[in-house]
Amino acid sequence: MSISYSGGEAEQAVTRTSMLPEDSNEGSLRPRTLSEYIGQTKAKENLSVFIKAAKMRGEPLDHVLLHGPPGLGKTTLASVIANEMCVNMRVTSGPTIEKPGDLAALLTNLQENDILFVDEIHRLDRAVEEILYPAMEDYAIDIIIGKGPSANSIRLDLPHFTLIGATTRSGQLTAPLRDRFGVTLRLELYTPAELADIVRRSAGILGIEIEPEGAWEIASRSRGTPRIANRMLRRVRDFAQVEADGVITRPVADAALTRLEVDAKGLDNIDRLMLRSIIEFYKGGPVGLETLAATINEEAVTLEDVYEPYLLQQGFLTRTPRGRCVTRKAYEHLGIEYYGQQSIED
Ligand code: ADP
Repeated sequence: MSISYSGGEAEQAVTRTSMLPEDSNEGSLRPRTLSEYIGQTKAKENLSVFIKAAKMRGEPLDHVLLHGPPGLGKTTLASVIANEMCVNMRVTSGPTIEKPGDLAALLTNLQENDILFVDEIHRLDRAVEEILYPAMEDYAIDIIIGKGPSANSIRLDLPHFTLIGATTRSGQLTAPLRDRFGVTLRLELYTPAELADIVRRSAGILGIEIEPEGAWEIASRSRGTPRIANRMLRRVRDFAQVEADGVITRPVADAALTRLEVDAKGLDNIDRLMLRSIIEFYKGGPVGLETLAATINEEAVTLEDVYEPYLLQQGFLTRTPRGRCVTRKAYEHLGIEYYGQQSIED
């Protein structure tokens, strides 16, 4: 059984958490300091202590692992840390480091106390990852020279550096790698109030006129994710310019987002398709993630990383050992009559 949606439209959906070409000017919206970085209070408070302590000792910060869904500000937080530590940051990502030599070249080119940011660190090749162990622990790498019985291993010292790893799937990190991070911070979905602050700040930077209720409307429909909030702001601005007098008010934001098929709770058509499929084909669940993914023609990892966190946070979906179930709240939101949770075997 399989149902589909129009793929092209979904790719362009305003609610995608991954980077789209239109987000290329995100840089100008990135906060530069911890005080500009909105929300994530717990992570920020801890970090500010670690940063102060490292600076007092004149040492690099301990290695940091940031995890959480896409678009929550992991890259931004890494650059804020570099800025607060007054050091340079080199940016790379797990899948782009193909060979151990590529990583060795990156490491040997760092300056003392620099930060190496590795996005999607769970996707590092195993042979590359092994180079990281002594690098993180002893600031050294072992290089093999020659082949066969005459091969020799020499140890090369590295500058003291901080590795910041970012991942959407910390469960996929190997234990030896995870254990080498001194600091692990989990980024949480943002509250509407925090997102409204982010929207107002971004509007200020982009010179967009927005009323507080307009910012709140965008915030409460951007599924807890700053990247989506900023993208919605830009799209709503287009509607405001063409169809209103350029000011984003609540009715303007509401009309624009409804036209973009984002409903009042911030769900897009894939969220709704996912919930509706569980109700229509699996009597509300439980249904396994893989089965559900095949039913709606999406990748299981995309459902798990991108769609589920928000649906769980909003209480539309629950995770049970036997699979995903929709809640009464989801039935009500979709306007489908609820007859109590039924098991699929019924
Ligand atoms: P990730 O690396 O987790 O995918 P990014 O760091 O690229 O996410 O963040 C996406 C965008 O969201 C950034 O360009 C930034 O403008 C905005 N952003 C993220 N976190 C915050 C925050 N705490 N305060 C303000 N803006 C933020």
